[in-house]
Amino acid sequence: MTASPTIIPQADPGAGYRAQQAEIDAAVARALSSGWYILGREGEAFEQEFASWLGTSRAVGCANGTDALALILRGLGIGEGCTVATVSHTAVATVAAIEMAGATPLLLDIDPDTYTMDPDELTAVLEDPPPGLPPIRAAIAVHLYGQACDLDPMLEACATNGVALIEDCAQAHGASLGGRRLGTMGAAAAFSLYPTKNLGALGDGGVLATDDFELADRIAAIRQYGWKERYVSAMVGVNSRLDEVQAAILRARLPHLDTGNARRREIAAAYDAALAGGPIAPPARRPGAEHVFHQYVLRAPDRAAMQARLREAGVGTGIHYPVPVHLQGAYRGRVPLGPAGCGETERAAREVLSLPMYPELTEAQVEQICGALSRL
Ligand SMILES: *Cc1c(COP(=O)(O)O)cnc(C)c1O
Repeated sequence: MTASPTIIPQADPGAGYRAQQAEIDAAVARALSSGWYILGREGEAFEQEFASWLGTSRAVGCANGTDALALILRGLGIGEGCTVATVSHTAVATVAAIEMAGATPLLLDIDPDTYTMDPDELTAVLEDPPPGLPPIRAAIAVHLYGQACDLDPMLEACATNGVALIEDCAQAHGASLGGRRLGTMGAAAAFSLYPTKNLGALGDGGVLATDDFELADRIAAIRQYGWKERYVSAMVGVNSRLDEVQAAILRARLPHLDTGNARRREIAAAYDAALAGGPIAPPARRPGAEHVFHQYVLRAPDRAAMQARLREAGVGTGIHYPVPVHLQGAYRGRVPLGPAGCGETERAAREVLSLPMYPELTEAQVEQICGALSRL
């Protein structure tokens, strides 16, 4: 009997910890010994450092990326009686956040090459809203897999129609479009800091960014019971705070984010080269956009077979996402779709396959994966 080969995992948050263990352990010890555990100096410093890295005036930490989106909507006064347009080909979190804020999601189809919102469909629904829906007040642009949406026509359509554009940057920390960082172009942007994201805590975390000081102040109050000052709830709020230990960990990791993204791009280029001339095309790049490869996603019409062959070669894979939001039990038949339906979304859900992608992949692992790709 042959020993089963070790499989290179598709994601490996433990490797990310081990690569920066000394710095992270020191940060954790500092936070623990400070005697202050929620919304303190580490959190404030992280907010400042994150905003200055991103290039926005303000950043506000919160409990997770889903909350970051919901807090932005609440901060903008978008809730019951409002529709928010987004896509069905995304983490369920995007749509869950819209409903948490009390609004109605409207799910549009994607461009099949970049897996991001079809800007023409957004323009069409803003100009001619589907009947029976509350007015569309916001659009959430999901920069999926680490690559920008076709943001310019979306920003233009939103501006023309008085609709807020919110960026879901949960997979796009450090990505850019036309030299501008994603997360700096709409009314506000939400980032998840889940352990496997390009910037990950070692637990839950989220942060939102904006240039609007009043919006940031409002959201900072909403995230803690609507407190203007301690025990004074000036408005209705929630509890969604980033703790000091996670903030300290994030401060240790933020200076490595750009090099981590560069390493992801290097790995992506190696995968591209291994696929060249074969039957499977490498992922499309949007011209003018800098991709940060949260995921490196192939399209495989016979996905199960390809997944099995890669597994035999010791390569783990993932599927992001196997079932579109509008076909999930919790949403099916209940959430409205755009006039075009979600045909491309459904095809993508059947075909997408994500390869291992994280900065700590070793050269030997990348070579092994490339060997398997060149034999597809
Ligand atoms: C991860 C993710 C979220 C949600 O983040 P959490 O921190 O898990 O709440 C939202 N949108 C997208 C596109 C994501 O990938």
